[in-house]
Amino acid sequence: MLLTIDQLTKSFGGLTAVQNVSASIERGKITAVIGPNGAGKSTFFNLISGFHLPTTGRIIFKGQDISKLKAENVARLGIGRTFQTTHLFEQATVLENVIVGHRLRTKSGLIDALFRTKRERLEEKMCLDKAEEVLDFVGVSSLAYAPISSITQEQQKRVAFALALATDPELVLLDEPAAGVNPDETEGLADLMKKMVNHGKTVCLIEHKMPMVMSLADHIIVLNHGQKIADGSPKEIRENESVINAYLGG
Ligand code: ADP
Ligand code: MG
Repeated sequence: MLLTIDQLTKSFGGLTAVQNVSASIERGKITAVIGPNGAGKSTFFNLISGFHLPTTGRIIFKGQDISKLKAENVARLGIGRTFQTTHLFEQATVLENVIVGHRLRTKSGLIDALFRTKRERLEEKMCLDKAEEVLDFVGVSSLAYAPISSITQEQQKRVAFALALATDPELVLLDEPAAGVNPDETEGLADLMKKMVNHGKTVCLIEHKMPMVMSLADHIIVLNHGQKIADGSPKEIRENESVINAYLGG
């Protein structure tokens, strides 16, 4: 397993957003995390990516305990992510977003990201090459100099993918990658996720679009009220009584 989660719990004051969840993500596969709004899916991603510290439990990535690592260290170890609402700078260009985003993700703070040493300026050249490479990979290289505010929602999703890929992650976490895009575009984004896997990535996505999840995922984890209520192949999940009652039935 590329990632193993053991008895993970996250409480925010009196609210337990993720409760005793154990799960794993297999290398080279597509894993989907599904469940109703408020089920704890985004919190689950925030825990894996080091944006939140677990209250209890462990997260093991490639044999290493990453439970207590900060986000920038988790990113450096090989976990990339997107956010449910794309965190892009509207006025900046696509290319600038990928470069600045990359720096923010791998440096410990905004100050570090803004003050540049000579060595860092050299790194910046490498960063520019990487940014162009990932924009090409996600299919928006022709938009490199377009401001974010001028491109479509689907193109913004692709830019967010590029940002996640810029740190060369082995595991890519995508939080609702197809939310707010039309069915044709959804298919294009699904193809892009398959392309990531074909290029050696392991993908884990949170998604509500069930046809997409069922055709794309190798494995599905179902969360409800912070707890894992099922885990299995698309066929097993489709036939699971408690999943139908909690989520699929409606
Ligand atoms: P999902 O992504 O499945 O819709 P979330 O993980 O966003 O669910 O949220 C799960 C629960 O945790 C919700 O009740 C939400 O309000 C709460 N929650 C999430 N993040 C925080 C936070 N930073 N502080 C307090 N409560 C939070
Ligand atoms: Mg969410």
